[in-house]
Amino acid sequence: MKYQISKDFSFEAAHRLIKNYSGKCSNNHGHSYRVRLTLEGEQLETTDMLFDFHETKRLQAWLDDKFDHATILWHEDPMLEMLQNFGNKVFITEKNPTAEHIAELIFAQAQALFENESVKVYCVEIGETCSSTARIMRQ
Ligand SMILES: [Zn+2]
Repeated sequence: MKYQISKDFSFEAAHRLIKNYSGKCSNNHGHSYRVRLTLEGEQLETTDMLFDFHETKRLQAWLDDKFDHATILWHEDPMLEMLQNFGNKVFITEKNPTAEHIAELIFAQAQALFENESVKVYCVEIGETCSSTARIMRQ
């Protein structure tokens, strides 16, 4: 038997996709990003919880610090230097800052944040719009 819990988070950020891409998402634009973190484990704690939902708020603190009201840009994006010169908050990525890549980054951070816990990070879902979601899952 396995248990899973999910917790939803959110942040506001801008991005644009210019690496090997020329569609409308190459324009700088923003999203109200939705993040769903799913943790998994086989044993309940003595409280009969898999993991205290309150403890998942560590991830929101990191999202606020790194992504909220930031512009998320590929490291070769020429807009990066201009925004940095204006003192704007930027988050620099190695890949195109797609929902898939942002999910990958959050998954890695969640693994680090919860590495000493009895649960494992199972899935991170990122919603960019009401109809578009990307998901990365533990294999
Ligand atoms: Zn977008």
